[in-house]
Amino acid sequence: MTPGEHAPGVRLVFLGPPGAGKGTQAQVLAGTSGAVQIATGDILRRHRRDRTPLGLEAQSFMDAGKLVPDDLIVRMMEAEIVGHDSFILDGFPRTVPQAEALDALLAGLGLPLVAVVLFETDRAELMARLTGRLTNERTGRTYHVVTDPPKVAGVDDDDGGPLVTRPDDRPETVAKRLVEYDSLTAALVPYYGAHGLLVRIDAMQAVPAVTAAIEDAVRRREAHVS
Ligand code: ADP
Ligand code: AMP
Repeated sequence: MTPGEHAPGVRLVFLGPPGAGKGTQAQVLAGTSGAVQIATGDILRRHRRDRTPLGLEAQSFMDAGKLVPDDLIVRMMEAEIVGHDSFILDGFPRTVPQAEALDALLAGLGLPLVAVVLFETDRAELMARLTGRLTNERTGRTYHVVTDPPKVAGVDDDDGGPLVTRPDDRPETVAKRLVEYDSLTAALVPYYGAHGLLVRIDAMQAVPAVTAAIEDAVRRREAHVS
């Protein structure tokens, strides 16, 4: 590659409050683009289930609706990202220090981000989405009791695995997670705005319309950077 050229590949950050639809869209777009979905929350829940030292350290923060400390997250995510040139980061970064660590890692790898997609929704919608969410904890696939129910109650259409309500999707913990978003994660909006990477998506639309809006925005960004 000559200077000024960018490595090919889809490299996106999905940014937005819990329940905005990041995981839903990351699964769809990973399927169509060939990028790997790297979902921080899913990886942490896997560590918890496997009772790794990281999982045991993270669990009290997760149960309290708090963010897990940056040093643990950054170490975990570096290991997940290295080796991929196309990825959708779903749930990372969530603080300015995490974003700075990601910038340093990607600069070192010569793999700049293509875009940071901001999912915009109103608060009442987030609460309705999260308190109705059903999760297959093995695969990360989600359903919704009202808007996207599985064919058989409590069972994943894809793999027949159990669907559960995440403990942190209870209304009292959702409220705490939204406070964390406002106080620590929302600062990434001006951060990535200043880097010229931010694209805003109306995430109140139905799933296919949100997918189309992201695809369109990413195509425009790719045309811009190539
Ligand atoms: P996030 O990853 O941002 O926390 P999810 O993708 O898990 O959010 O979505 C939260 C809940 O909202 C899930 O139950 C999902 O089925 C539902 N959902 C996702 N996108 C939409 C949408 N565009 N319209 C309605 N419900 C949605
Ligand atoms: P999620 O599945 O993305 O809603 O994340 C669930 C929980 O995992 C969060 O409430 C945090 O406790 C933790 N978590 C996920 N991603 C991060 C991150 N980037 N930084 C800190 N904590 C995180």
